[in-house]
Amino acid sequence: IEKIQEAAGNGRTAFSFEYFPPKTEEGVENLFERMDRMVAHGPSFCDITWGAGGSTADLTLEIANRMQNMVCVETMMHLTCTNMPVEKIDHALETIKSNGIQNVLALRGDPPHGQDKFVQVEGGFACALDLVQHIRAKYGDYFGITVAGYPEAHPDAIQSEEGATLEAYSNDLAYLKRKVDAGADLIVTQLFYDTDIFLKFVNDCRQIGITCPIVPGIMPINNYKGFLRMAGFCKTKIPSEITAALDPIKDNEEAVKQYGIHLGTEMCKKILASGIKTLHLYTLNMDKSALGILMNLGLIEEYKVSRPLPWRPATNVFRVKEDVRPI
Ligand code: FAD
Repeated sequence: IEKIQEAAGNGRTAFSFEYFPPKTEEGVENLFERMDRMVAHGPSFCDITWGAGGSTADLTLEIANRMQNMVCVETMMHLTCTNMPVEKIDHALETIKSNGIQNVLALRGDPPHGQDKFVQVEGGFACALDLVQHIRAKYGDYFGITVAGYPEAHPDAIQSEEGATLEAYSNDLAYLKRKVDAGADLIVTQLFYDTDIFLKFVNDCRQIGITCPIVPGIMPINNYKGFLRMAGFCKTKIPSEITAALDPIKDNEEAVKQYGIHLGTEMCKKILASGIKTLHLYTLNMDKSALGILMNLGLIEEYKVSRPLPWRPATNVFRVKEDVRPI
C-alpha cells in the first residue's frame, strides 16, 4: 500500500501483476523469465496465487520466495483456508516471514475439487474474515493484508442470471467491510467486464465507510473459450457489446487477443478517468496482453527485454497502518 500511495502521491498510476504456479518445472522457469521482463516495467507489486484447495502450497511458497529475493519485486502471496488447519496456515506465514515477504492476500478459498460447498476443515477457518483476524492477532502489523472484493457479489450470493439481489449484494458488501475493519489494508476485486458495475461497487463501498484502496482486477481476454469458462465460473456479467464484438472473431485467436487488449485498454481508461489510480492485471502468466494494455495507456514506455541494472532488492513494505487515504 505504501508503494501504491507513493505512486499516487507522485501523480503516477500504480499497477501490479498476478501469476499462478505453473504445472511443470519448465513452466516455472519460463514464468520467471517472463516475470523478469515484466518487472522491468516497475509494478508496485506482483502476486502469486495459492492453488485451489492448497494444491500448490509448496510451489507457491517457493515461487513467492524467489519473486521477493531473486526477481526482487515486492511480493504478495495468496493464502486460502481450504484444507488448512491453523498449523499449516502458520507454517505458510512463518515461511514467508522468514523470507522477508510482508504481503498476504487472505482468502477463504473455493471448495476442494469435486465438492460444491466450502467445508471448514477441523482446526481451520470458515472464511477470509477468520484468517484476517488470525493474521492480525498473531503477527500484529508485520503483514500487509489484502482481501478479495466482488463488484457483482460473491458467486455464492448470485442465484439467477439477473445477478445478486440487492439484499445479497448488500450483505456481501457489509461482510467486506468486516474484513477491512478486522485489519485488511487493501481490496483487490474479482474480474469484471462491465466497468460501470465496478465503479458503482467502489461508490457503494465508500458509502458504507470502506476507505482503503480498492484495486480493480483486470483480466484481459486472451482466448475465447477460456474467457467464457472464467466468466461462467465467476458468474460475471458480459455486456452485449462484448459478445457482439467477439462472436465474429471467436475462432481467430490472434484477433481475440487484439480485441482483449483493446477492451482492457478502454476499461482501464474509464477507470483511470474516474480518479482511481491503481490497476491489477491478471496476467494468466502471459505478458503480451497485460503489457499491451499498459503501453496503450502510456503507463510503460517500451517493451523492455531485460531489466535495467543495477538490481536492487525490494525492501519496502507496501502497507500503512494509519490514515489510509482512499485512492
Ligand atoms: P470470503 O471473504 O470468506 O467470502 C465468501 C462468501 O461468503 C461471500 O459471499 C461472503 O459474503 C460470505 N461470507 C463468508 N463468511 C461470512 C460471514 N462470516 N458472514 C457473512 N458472510 C460471509 N482462490 C484460490 O483458491 N486461490 C487463490 O489464490 C485465489 N485468489 C483470488 C484472488 C482474488 C483477487 C479473488 C477475487 C479471488 C481469489 N480466489 C482464489 C477465489 C476465492 O478463493 C473464492 O472466490 C472463494 O470462494 C471466496 O474467497 P473469499 O476470500 O472471497 O471468501
